[in-house]
Amino acid sequence: MALIVHKYGGTSMGSTERIRNVAKRVAKWARAGHQMVVVPSAMSGETNRLLALAKELAPASLTEAYGRELDMLAATGEQASSALLAIALQAEGLESVSYAGWQVPIRTDSSYTKARIESIDDARVRSDLQAGRVVIVTGFQGIDDQGNITTLGRGGSDTSAVAVAAAMKADECLIYTDVDGVYTTDPRVVPEARRLHTVSFEEMLEMASMGSKVLQIRSVEFAGKYKVPLRVLSSFTPWDIDLNEEAKSGTLITFEEDENMEQAIVSGIAFNRDEAKISILGVPDKPGIAYQILGAVANANIEVDMIIQNISKDGKTDFSFTVNRNEYTKTMSLLNDTVLPALGATQVVGDTKICKVSIVGIGMRSHVGVASTMFRVLSEEGINIQMISTSEIKTSVVIDEKYMELAVRALHKAFDLDQVPA
Ligand code: ASP
Ligand code: MG
Repeated sequence: MALIVHKYGGTSMGSTERIRNVAKRVAKWARAGHQMVVVPSAMSGETNRLLALAKELAPASLTEAYGRELDMLAATGEQASSALLAIALQAEGLESVSYAGWQVPIRTDSSYTKARIESIDDARVRSDLQAGRVVIVTGFQGIDDQGNITTLGRGGSDTSAVAVAAAMKADECLIYTDVDGVYTTDPRVVPEARRLHTVSFEEMLEMASMGSKVLQIRSVEFAGKYKVPLRVLSSFTPWDIDLNEEAKSGTLITFEEDENMEQAIVSGIAFNRDEAKISILGVPDKPGIAYQILGAVANANIEVDMIIQNISKDGKTDFSFTVNRNEYTKTMSLLNDTVLPALGATQVVGDTKICKVSIVGIGMRSHVGVASTMFRVLSEEGINIQMISTSEIKTSVVIDEKYMELAVRALHKAFDLDQVPA
């Protein structure tokens, strides 16, 4: 007997029929003798629907002012789906109870709409499990120390599930979703993309932060910190498939580099169009310019990703960096209004039509020349690299958005990701 946490995404919970399917699947696991905690997302589209209603009443730019109410509102989505799942389980003949975040409680800080989990009290859930109940815990939400309901950021149910699994010391946390695992890249871009049987936690972290949308990045950080065994698998298999077969399906996120790991140098290609590039031209090249530019940006709470400073000519240099696309306008006006005049720079130019493509793999640690293969492949395709950044296990480039698919396909092929490793 094991203690298992299942997490079901919005699509898996998308209709009463699908909720019934989830209930049947969970019942199968419970009847096999496992203690089951289930963390559902809201029914698909529900969180968007609720937040759109708020937008009709007040401008999105005031989000911070009414963050508390947004969380009150958005948290109802998970409360509804959780109750429906408990009802479906009871209709299947199982004892089941659902809890909102505050009833567990799942304690968070007070940063509305992006709260962080601080602690989870497992006593109530544990006593239900001991009494033979399947326990449903709402995803995405918690309560702060003032008793306010908080939410964890979009996609936050993944994090709820991993945090519950960590707090309960679950044997495994299974993330059921509408894809059947983690792929070498997005199969919509490269049809030859393969599902990875295992992926290391560090690679998953890079892939999640580089644009792979399979797991919320914070959930991966959590899994790493507490060593939660995590598996991503499909909720669209028939609910009555053999449990042992199901338990081995999908992609397992591993913490050790064992012999069974697929020994590819590059494990995946991630890409995203979430960023925009901004350059400040004609900056006097003297100590403190990076601080003046990026300090101002950081003070405005804008996150910077890639950074480049050009070699200087005649005492002037160009300084470029990327920010999230939805902070582009805000960053441009900040630079134009304050930083440009203070620095005596010539001009601020921006480009939103860029994308970032990354190769990720722990094998890069022990193999030289992986990045240069990437650069060669891009040059053979005639794709100009605008920015580069590297870490031990990834190399990212910024290129023109219109070459994104070409770049991803060429790299996927060049690194043999369509071949099953020997
Ligand atoms: N319902 C929330 C969202 O749509 C949380 C989640 O689904 O993970 O972002
Ligand atoms: Mg999700």
